Formats: sequence, structure tokens, C-alpha cells
Amino acid sequence: MRASRLPAVKTLGQFDFAFQPSIKREQIESLHELGFLDRRENIIFLGPPGVGKTHLAISLAIAAAESGRRVYYGTLTALIESLVDAKAAGQLSRRLRVLTHPALLVVDEIGYLPVSQDGAVLFFQLINARHERASTVLTSNKGFEEWGGVLGDEIMATALIDRLLHHCHIVNIRGNSYRMREHQNLMRSASEQRHEEAVL
Ligand code: ADP
Ligand code: MG
Repeated sequence: MRASRLPAVKTLGQFDFAFQPSIKREQIESLHELGFLDRRENIIFLGPPGVGKTHLAISLAIAAAESGRRVYYGTLTALIESLVDAKAAGQLSRRLRVLTHPALLVVDEIGYLPVSQDGAVLFFQLINARHERASTVLTSNKGFEEWGGVLGDEIMATALIDRLLHHCHIVNIRGNSYRMREHQNLMRSASEQRHEEAVL
């Protein structure tokens, strides 16, 4: 756990399924039984900001760590930065080995920040190295058709997606941001209040 660089502790128990009805509870619970790790399958969480993609990716990583497996977390940007730095230092193959080793790698936030051309190539190498060796859990606010734009290369994005989807669970989340829920309640009560005033 300490070496995993998880940004927060988020567990399955803390996840409110009632708030996000587009998520199938049974699917998420069965993924937390971790059979996908033995089968070297990937998981991709897709959806707009705030719907719980990072939360569920982290809770899977925690479950995996608790089962004694090695896990590692990074945003796409941070992982690529570490690969670019390693390459500049002549340590690329070593860094690729380190990132290929964990039974579970979380690649968070694909799509928020653009990736340099060199960075995209290094990320492709990483996914290629992990393909059918170990599981990767990815999150993105962008649909697959937009990954070419994120990675700056349509053909490489297609090859990357092809590998990722070969053995993969896709969890498509449609719904409201959990971060905004209190705000929504405030807005609702304000508009209800206005409505009541208007009726009065
Ligand atoms: P995303 O990665 O999809 O942008 P996060 O997973 O970071 O969203 O969720 C935003 C915040 O809301 C986090 O603090 C997360 O723990 C919380 N959260 C999101 N969805 C739920 C949910 N259904 N139940 C409980 N907490 C949630
Ligand atoms: Mg997130």
C-alpha cells in the first residue's frame, strides 16, 4: 500500500450505488473479487467528471493490495513524466520493468491533459509490455474515439485500444457528479423556495 502511491483511501464500502444507478452493483462487486487479476484482464472506467471513476479504480487497487498483490497508481500525466525522465536518464527499460511488474497498475485521468508525442509512444510501450502479463485499470472522461486526439496519433491510439480491449471490462458511467451533489441540493432548494414565493 505504501509503495502504491494511491492518492486517497477509497473503498467499495464507501461507494453509494444509489447515487449512481447507471453502475451495475453486481458487476462492481464481482470485479472486487479480483478474478480479473488472475485472468490478466483490464478494466476501463469511462464517464464525465465526478461520477466515481477514480474512487472505484482506487477501491480495486486497495482490494488487490489487501490480497497481497503489488499495485501501483499514477495519472497518465505522472506515469508518462516518469517514463520521459527515465528515458532521458538512460533508464527507460528499467522503468518499464518497474511499471510492468505490479499485478495491478491504475492509469487515471486519460483525457484531461494532452500528451506529447514522445510521451504517447512511451505509454504505448508500457501498455504493450503489460498486455496479457498483468492487469491495468484505466479511467477516462473521453470516449475511445477521442483517444487519438488525447494521444496525438490516431493509429497508435487504435493499436493501444486494440490491446486494452482484447481482455477487458468496460464500465460506462452516465450520471451526475458526486462532487456537485450538495450544490445541486442547494440549487434545488433555492429554486423550490423561489417557486414557493412565486406561488405565495
Ligand atoms: P471521477 O474520477 O469520476 O472524476 P471521483 O471518483 O474522483 O470522480 O469522485 C469524486 C468524489 O466523489 C470523490 O471524493 C469520490 O470518493 C466521491 N464519490 C463519487 N461517486 C461516489 C459515490 N457513488 N458514492 C460515494 N462517493 C462518491
Ligand atoms: Mg478521477
